[in-house]
This record gives sequence, C-alpha cells and structure tokens, in this order.
Amino acid sequence: MIAVYPGSFDPITVGHIDIIQRMSSKFEEFHILVAKSGDKEYFFSEEERVDLIKGALPKISNLKIHIGSGLTIDFAKKIKADCILRGLRAISDFEYEMAMANMNKKLAAEIETLIVFASPQHHFISSRLVKEVARHGGDLSGLVPPIVEQALMKKQE
Ligand code: ADP
Repeated sequence: MIAVYPGSFDPITVGHIDIIQRMSSKFEEFHILVAKSGDKEYFFSEEERVDLIKGALPKISNLKIHIGSGLTIDFAKKIKADCILRGLRAISDFEYEMAMANMNKKLAAEIETLIVFASPQHHFISSRLVKEVARHGGDLSGLVPPIVEQALMKKQE
C-alpha cells in the first residue's frame, strides 16, 4: 500500500513526527507532501520546510518528501496512492477533515482518507501555536525537534 501524508509542516512538530513514525512502517511507500506557498503565506519557505523535515527525521527507507502546489488528490492519483493520511487532534479538527475527505472522495472515489488520532501527549501541539510561542521567546523543548527550535530562534533574530 502507498500513503500520502500531506500538510503545511510550517514547521514540522513532534506531533507530525509521531504520526510519521507510527504510520510509515505500515506502508510500502510513504510520501510526505509539503504544500507549496501560493495563496497561503507560510513562515518557512517550502525548501526550508523540507530541509527541516529531513533534518528532524531518522532515516526511513520507504519515505519520500515532495513539494506540491496542486490538489493533494491529483498528487495521490499520480503516484497511485491508496490513501491520504491525516492526523486528528481534537473535535475542532473534525469538520475540516471531514469536508476535505468528502471532497477528495468526490474527486477520486478509489482513494481513501485515513484518519489517525494524535497521541494524547500531542493533542495540543500545532505549528501555529509553536510559532506563537517562538515569537514570544517561550520554551519550545518537547514541542519541536532541536533543528526546528534552532530555525525558529534564528528567524526571530
Ligand atoms: P494543514 O495545514 O494541511 O492542516 P499541518 O501541517 O497543520 O497541515 O498538518 C498536517 C497533518 O498533520 C494534519 O492532518 C494535521 O491534523 C496533522 N497534525 C498536526 N499537528 C498534529 C499533532 N500534534 N499530532 C498529530 N497530528 C497532527
């Protein structure tokens, strides 16, 4: 089976890493799709986000990282993925994820969206809040890997 894990990863957090480590071994191919800057402005460029993902993860032999500007579902079709993987933290994630899953189902019925619950200790961790903490000089340990912590601190300088 082939999975795509799409997201902004702006930046990657320990929550994303946990999902990747728990799920990548369950598939023959595991593709991370990093959203390219377009309408949405990101804090880190797509190249920076990819470098941070690479630097944050141990070697995972079946993992590939891509940058994508189009629809996730088109990328999933192109690489013949069986499923799109998303993480769910709280009920507040649910409506957005359900709308997206249903839209993707409409666009390509053969590709399933797989929802994986965040580990309990990561429920409160989001890239947005991590950036907020960084902006005000808060302690980032346990929220992001050291390489991301350094990159966030450098951006504040
Ligand atoms: P997007 O902008 O597409 O939501 P994110 O980078 O914020 O991209 O998240 C990518 C995926 O990872 C989403 O499915 C999101 O729910 C999930 N995710 C984000 N933070 C966590 C976390 N702390 N634990 C588990 N999954 C998470």
